[in-house]
Amino acid sequence: MIDKHECQHLLGQLSDYVDGELEQTLCEEIECHLADCQNCRIVVDTLSKTVALYRTQGQSPVPGDVEERLYKVLNLERFTTLDAPSRQSHVQDFGEQ
Ligand SMILES: [Zn+2]
Repeated sequence: MIDKHECQHLLGQLSDYVDGELEQTLCEEIECHLADCQNCRIVVDTLSKTVALYRTQGQSPVPGDVEERLYKVLNLERFTTLDAPSRQSHVQDFGEQ
């Protein structure tokens, strides 16, 4: 069962999570939630890619507006329509060579 409040709570920690700056217990909490919550998985995926991108450019990770945008991406209204099979597939690591 997906708990919006848990999502909101975790979203506040995600930038630290992808940055590897979060305490172990919180990481486990997030990972546990991610196992059940596709929406948050997408956010983490997006966020970690964003952070990686900023790192390769030598900039500081995750400026505020990126985080803000992620909150919009994760429009909480979507949680009520989770039954809809509009799964966002991530095609990666295929045919790279
Ligand atoms: Zn969630």
